[in-house]
Amino acid sequence: MENIVDNPHQRTPLPNQDCYEYTTGRWSQYLDRVALVDSASGAKYTYGEVQDAVHNIAGHLQALGLSRGTNLAVCASNCVEIPIIQLAVWKLGGMVTFLNPLLKPGEISVSIKDTNPTFLFLDEEKCRMLSAVIPEKSIVLTKEDVEGFRSFASLKAPIEWQPEAFTRDLDNPAIILFSSGTTGPPKAVLLSHINFLACVGGYTCALEAGTLRVSKWTNCIIYLPISHLYGQLLINTNFIGGATSITMPRFDMKRYLQLNADYKCEVMSLVPPLAVLFSKNKEVLAKYDLSSVNGILCGAAFLHPEVTQELLKIIPTETNGIAQGYGMTEVGISNMMPSDSLMATHGAPDLPSSVGLPMPHYKLAVRDLKNGEFLPANKHGEICVSGPGVMMGYLNNKEATDAMIDANGWLATGDIGYYDSNGYFYIVDRLKELIKYKGHQVSPSEMEDLLLTHPNIADAGVVGFPDLECGELPSAFIVLKPGKNLTVDEIRKFVAEKAAPFKKLRGPIELVSQIPRTGSGKILRRCMLSNLQEQHGCG
Ligand code: AMP
Repeated sequence: MENIVDNPHQRTPLPNQDCYEYTTGRWSQYLDRVALVDSASGAKYTYGEVQDAVHNIAGHLQALGLSRGTNLAVCASNCVEIPIIQLAVWKLGGMVTFLNPLLKPGEISVSIKDTNPTFLFLDEEKCRMLSAVIPEKSIVLTKEDVEGFRSFASLKAPIEWQPEAFTRDLDNPAIILFSSGTTGPPKAVLLSHINFLACVGGYTCALEAGTLRVSKWTNCIIYLPISHLYGQLLINTNFIGGATSITMPRFDMKRYLQLNADYKCEVMSLVPPLAVLFSKNKEVLAKYDLSSVNGILCGAAFLHPEVTQELLKIIPTETNGIAQGYGMTEVGISNMMPSDSLMATHGAPDLPSSVGLPMPHYKLAVRDLKNGEFLPANKHGEICVSGPGVMMGYLNNKEATDAMIDANGWLATGDIGYYDSNGYFYIVDRLKELIKYKGHQVSPSEMEDLLLTHPNIADAGVVGFPDLECGELPSAFIVLKPGKNLTVDEIRKFVAEKAAPFKKLRGPIELVSQIPRTGSGKILRRCMLSNLQEQHGCG
């Protein structure tokens, strides 16, 4: 087919192993190296110790009934216990569901109902918070010692056991992450072993071939949620390459910089809001020894080239560039900026704002919004992705899956972009409903449904208001019921009480007499946004 772009330099085969085998495959070379450090508790594990912990925990989990296909959900702030549990579940052929620990109990309860896990792994805080929503039949495991539950420490105790024999089917589900996709509320994204390894394995082989702008296995501070694809990529590729992952339960700039200096991290993995924060805090950064940093990875949202320029003045990198990547929970990391050496043979991008070439195992195309045809270079349309990285589908939601993936396996990302004559991609706009606040997904329709539960609200429309520091701020148009009153502050408070902190309505809120809609009732979000921008500036 014409007008399909892939990575012409890396046609390595997919790993013929499942996530457990691939991630741990080289560990005999690194048993004495430090694999995991918990910056909050101080817990530290060498690869050998992780291997033993995974073995024992898998034994206990098997005794508790976890086997091939069993679903264990994790809801905990970043800590070293999470990846250890994840590997133990994978060792037994189970799947791991990641629930965002920032969500409120009501939101987590919806995700638990959607994914119906048999086991739950919680930290103490979540255990307390979720006591009312944990299904009675669930087997609850806890990070700390909590009365009435099996703790991580007890699961780590030595146990004699024999793994049950099973065939490792790479098309079986390995992991469930959440994403709202192109429309509607958050949905459970089902990724098979092959889906996940197309991304992690592709990144590994590109990294080792030196064709990425970051070209080293390096110690890495895992502050990005392990419940998000980006956190998953970092921790699992570190396992493959034998580097140290230092977990941070929540981001704190000074602590992060200190940890980077202490562990001599060579690559910083950022999201655009942090790139902005760092570029504005030159004096703070100057207090820390960041001389080991020679590469910066950035993804999850658009990175402004001016921010790149500012940041590189403070943290110069080996290649004097930032490796911007592009991806999506439903497909993995499909694009990344290549190394200078690959650019020298392949050709460079037209503009520095590029998100790079397709990664190994990914094919990309740009679809004409009017006639659905794949477009040639330099024409704008919807970015579509195909290949083994494309998700199995949304769990129990064939309609949403079919709306996103066509009969030929092409997934429509809902992002508008183009590629240049050398096959470098650029993201220029978003067709889909998604709001991205500091890299976190906020679903406008989920927020609208929440607002409509307020007894005084008749109608609501939610959009992302552009913001250089945060990406977009969730903002709203609200129609009140006749004769009812509600202030903007009360609306903000209502949402803050019911939804995760990153979903707060931080942008402008307008009380209006009606929400702009099409004849069929679809909210005209662009119209809402331009009204907001007229009144509140461009953001
Ligand atoms: P998520 O599934 O949370 O990773 O969100 C995926 C979405 O984030 C993509 O479909 C894009 O809309 C956006 N995104 C990710 N990386 C970039 C990037 N480098 N530039 C612009 N948008 C991005």
